[in-house]
Amino acid sequence: MESQKQFKRRFSFEFFPPKTDQGREKLQTVRDRLAEVHPDFFSVTFGAGGSTRDRTIETVLNLHSQGISTAPHLSCVGGTRKSIAELLDIYRESGVNRIVALRGDLPSGMGASGELRYANELVAFIREHSGDTFNLEVAAYPEFHPQARNAEEDLKNFARKVEAGANSAITQYFFNADSYFYFIDRLEKMNITIPVVPGIMPIVNFSSLVRFSDMCGAEIPRWIRKQLEAYGDDSDSIRKFGEEVVTRMCERLLAAGAPGLHFYTLNQAEASLNIWNNLGLANRDKISF
Ligand code: FAD
Repeated sequence: MESQKQFKRRFSFEFFPPKTDQGREKLQTVRDRLAEVHPDFFSVTFGAGGSTRDRTIETVLNLHSQGISTAPHLSCVGGTRKSIAELLDIYRESGVNRIVALRGDLPSGMGASGELRYANELVAFIREHSGDTFNLEVAAYPEFHPQARNAEEDLKNFARKVEAGANSAITQYFFNADSYFYFIDRLEKMNITIPVVPGIMPIVNFSSLVRFSDMCGAEIPRWIRKQLEAYGDDSDSIRKFGEEVVTRMCERLLAAGAPGLHFYTLNQAEASLNIWNNLGLANRDKISF
């Protein structure tokens, strides 16, 4: 973990672009609450295809104009070099300076995979088109990407994104801090020393967590799964237990030198803020984790 200790910690909150006016109003309230704790940036996810793409742009530009730096996620799957270049130009002209560059996943049934096949090709294309305009974040998978040929290949593929010009990474969420520590050790042995910020998923709803985790390949350890299962419909106990488990994991991560945290908020303020407050991050400059 030594390589990670040299980086200034940064804290960020991720949103998805709302579909309805009601969703937009809700996100504004969530944004206002989270802005009070002064995160380093917000980020907004991206879905391949026309309308979701436009919603990401709209949400990013709206949030960015309100004073907290906002990073769009941008995936290359299903896109063309031309369509990606247009997006990059829109963001550059609006003063956006950070992009989360991803391959993305096509919704099932959507045909062609696009001109750029993997995130390393997207990173290279962004550097070619926009030079150093953007700070580029890429995805990292301490428990390995579900489609990787094997763990070693996945690490090599991560290295490709760094070689192509990624500045830092955000991980898929995990509930097992050791997978993150081991991942960082492996990167250090490969002489990869960019900041790798843990992605944190607050636990608020058991069934959606299971569905989501199955999809993205994140493991819910048996002891957590069993305990959540036992709470059944008791959502208060699920939240309380989830908050405790995730707070403890974050404490371990920060104490070991993780260079910040990135919260998958799912457009809800409460759960992330509770963890934030438990960690004492309001006074984060004074904390000696
Ligand atoms: P890549 O790094 O390209 O890797 C994808 C797979 O291909 C891996 O198995 C890898 O080992 C393999 N691979 C990579 N390069 C090569 C190569 N050159 N040759 C052979 N195999 C290779 N998805 C969205 O749709 N929208 C979002 O906004 C979004 N945000 C995310 C944010 C974060 C922080 C994370 C961790 C994930 C996010 N995702 C998002 C999910 C992500 O798009 C998926 O996990 C996707 O399947 C992989 O994207 P990637 O950028 O990691 O792809």
